[in-house]
Amino acid sequence: PPVPRHRDMMTAPAAAIAARLHRAGGGARGPLGDARAQFEAASRLLGLDPALHAVLSVPHREMTVMLPLRRPDGTTEMVAGHRVQHSLARGPGKGGIRFSAHADLDTVRALAMWMTWKCALFDLPFGGAKGAIAVDPGGLGRGEYERLVRRYARAVAPITGADTDIPAPDVGSGADEMAWMMDAAPAGGAGWGVVTGKPLALGGSQGRAAATSLGVATVALLALRRAGIDPREATAAVHGFGKVGRGAALELSRAGVRVTAVADVRGGTRALDGLDLPALAAHVDATGSVAGFPDGDALAAADVLTEAVDVLIPAAVEGVITHENADRVSARIIVEGANGPVTSTAEAALRHRGIEIVPDLLANGGGVVVSYFEWVQARQGWWWDAADVEHRLAQRMRESWRLVADRASAEGVDLRTAATALAVERVAAAVRARGSEG
Ligand code: GLU
Repeated sequence: PPVPRHRDMMTAPAAAIAARLHRAGGGARGPLGDARAQFEAASRLLGLDPALHAVLSVPHREMTVMLPLRRPDGTTEMVAGHRVQHSLARGPGKGGIRFSAHADLDTVRALAMWMTWKCALFDLPFGGAKGAIAVDPGGLGRGEYERLVRRYARAVAPITGADTDIPAPDVGSGADEMAWMMDAAPAGGAGWGVVTGKPLALGGSQGRAAATSLGVATVALLALRRAGIDPREATAAVHGFGKVGRGAALELSRAGVRVTAVADVRGGTRALDGLDLPALAAHVDATGSVAGFPDGDALAAADVLTEAVDVLIPAAVEGVITHENADRVSARIIVEGANGPVTSTAEAALRHRGIEIVPDLLANGGGVVVSYFEWVQARQGWWWDAADVEHRLAQRMRESWRLVADRASAEGVDLRTAATALAVERVAAAVRARGSEG
């Protein structure tokens, strides 16, 4: 039989995946259902050509590897690793690697599709991809963990590389993992462009670690102004106090926003006059959690999502605002720091109540924007200073915000549909120009 030209499915025939995507899209079950529903809304708005729709409905290429993990008791456990490349039409795949026991293949498929749209929205010369190692890193010793990351890097090497697909940090991973991944890459990781989010000592970029949170805060301030709210009069609640939530909260409080409630996996804290963010950050550094912060009142982590604030920033994981708690959400604006924190069913209910949602692909794009800057710098061997990175990041965030806000107003649609449509349009143009729609 002829070799399929545009589908390079390693794990399952395209038909099976498409059927699964279709089922997932039918009732918004999980991140894949949400991703699918959002793609459908954008496709309808665009009147997308059926051939282009077919191409973009399913991942271009998927790889699942089974990684042996030797436990201290001498037994060997097999851990699944995935890398999904949703689209390579606009350039090499780009997207993070997450370390989470919940990261199954369908979740990674959704996250990869979101990366395609995110990279296109910011006009980066990348397609979209995502990876995962289905393990909770907390349960592993440092040596075990490092060996697992290195095995994963070697196992996915046939489909990754500076011109093919460039991993980066995501939930549960950071600069250390990227350093090991680079070192484990073919040729001893001699090329700095193979991963982004690397430590500065290994060709990383100034400003990469803070990029996502800075971008989230920038967009939150723009959204407040669009809603006619003076940031110095505004309040915010932040769900998640890790790579994204912590920096976003600090940045917003620097801009004069009163951050009144914050939570992480272990609990939450509230101070209606505004939390002292530097003191809270110091408490987290000392204890590992916002829970028990002496200058705030304790509250359950989930309650932070229903605080009466101007801006709510869900910055932890996907699927935290659902049909079950959407009615109790009392924020005026939701800025998605995480990928997919608002489910499609919740979104419909929130929109009905006039709550504005600044979608993930726009709000948290700062991370991949500075990943792109890192890739450019690393490949040129010419590094920019922190001010340069920050300035260019702010410019990109403002440009994409403007594009999306204008499109939403012009077409009378919500920000997510406008952002996704802009992105799908760009990716579809690349697919068509390549002649890869069949
Ligand atoms: N994991 C981040 C995201 O979801 C960053 C990806 C990257 O830098 O490639 O956007």
